[in-house]
Amino acid sequence: MKASLAKEVNRIAGLILLAALAALAVGHIWPLLVGLVGYIFWSTRQLFALYSWLVRDDHTEPPDSIGLWGEFYTRLEHLFQKERRAQENLQGIIHRAQQSVNALEDVVILIDQFGYLEYWNRAAEHYMGFNARQDLGQPLTNLVRHPGFTEYLYNGDFSEPLEIPSPVDDNRILQFRVTEFGVGEQLLMARDVTRLHHLEEMRKDFVANVSHELKTPLTVLKGYLETLLDTVPDEQGRLRRALTQMESQSNRMEALVTDLLLLSRLENTDADNDRQAVAIHGMLHRMRENALALGAEKKHRIELEIPEEARLIANPAELESAFGNLITNAVKYTPDNGYIQIRWWQDDKGAHLSVTDDGVGIDPAHIPRLTERFYRPDNSRVTQTGGTGLGLAIVKHVMIRHNGKLEISSELGKGSTFTCHFPPDRLVSKPTAVAG
Ligand code: ADP
Repeated sequence: MKASLAKEVNRIAGLILLAALAALAVGHIWPLLVGLVGYIFWSTRQLFALYSWLVRDDHTEPPDSIGLWGEFYTRLEHLFQKERRAQENLQGIIHRAQQSVNALEDVVILIDQFGYLEYWNRAAEHYMGFNARQDLGQPLTNLVRHPGFTEYLYNGDFSEPLEIPSPVDDNRILQFRVTEFGVGEQLLMARDVTRLHHLEEMRKDFVANVSHELKTPLTVLKGYLETLLDTVPDEQGRLRRALTQMESQSNRMEALVTDLLLLSRLENTDADNDRQAVAIHGMLHRMRENALALGAEKKHRIELEIPEEARLIANPAELESAFGNLITNAVKYTPDNGYIQIRWWQDDKGAHLSVTDDGVGIDPAHIPRLTERFYRPDNSRVTQTGGTGLGLAIVKHVMIRHNGKLEISSELGKGSTFTCHFPPDRLVSKPTAVAG
């Protein structure tokens, strides 16, 4: 480039020199002017040629030129060639990525920040019924009209997947997961979980049926045990001890069956039944009294911090069950003379109930699994506390049914806090008939 530049400078200098000599020879300035105008004319032509070459789509075969202009064209052509190759490479990568996404059995859908369809794979056509020609650029919620799906997308909480029937086949169940990327864009992936769903349904039915079937024999057994305990005289100590043990175990079994049935009901029934404005203050006051009676010998200090006017749109029985489990646990897992605090507060994020104790605490490693059925960090506690292992699973389900969340924080040996978070739409804005 430097050599061409030098040549071009020499060429211009030579031209000026020639024109100057000619001007001297004829004794007039016009040969110099002619040389200058000629050079400007030639350069302008080159500029036009460059412009028309640049606006062409292919950028191959640059116009013929000499000197610096020729060098210019060669360099530009190389640049364009490099860019073309990079583009071809990129297109190849995109094509291969599309091919592999198309080969996936899972549905892949891309939507832009306004919820309009940008891309989907072949599985989406099969499971969702998308049509390449007419559906591109359509709002996704116009094509998938399930109310749960719309709510899931608008809520923006994608921590849990969503299961809904396929829009083209009610018998197929799809499980959606959403990943956000870019500026408000979303990648939706769905897989066919029909088989898993059926197995889960079978499990739920099985547990519900077994629990239901166990109820009657258990009632009969308990009835006889009670009668026997009433009739066996105190002198027959061994028999009485055996019967007392049998009675306490059948009570435990009854509690288990009751909790299993409650869990089945929470899983299998409509979440919106029996919605009322529940007076929280009265409900928790009663629970405090019960908790004090339950752990009378432990001499706990139980404090309530609840505004009198606290109200929540909820199912009162379910709420009582959830709060009851948290408070009972606090009593169970807090040693003598311990302190338990029950607090209710509201803010722009909704309503919150926390139960804090300074009891035995939980190793944080166990916290993520604590709401699983029968999960216990320390099995040796079971016999001492006599719980069913279903309490926190019940709390979690009640919270899900109230569009809320259970948060657990704890430190081994220091105590625990269980907080129920309810969304703002559960708050009572104006006076309503109150239950509780
Ligand atoms: P359980 O009938 O065993 O109490 P839950 O589902 O209510 O069943 O609780 C599961 C486990 O979580 C308990 O076994 C216990 O180890 C732990 N846990 C629950 N609440 C507390 C608490 N307040 N303090 C310490 N550990 C707790």
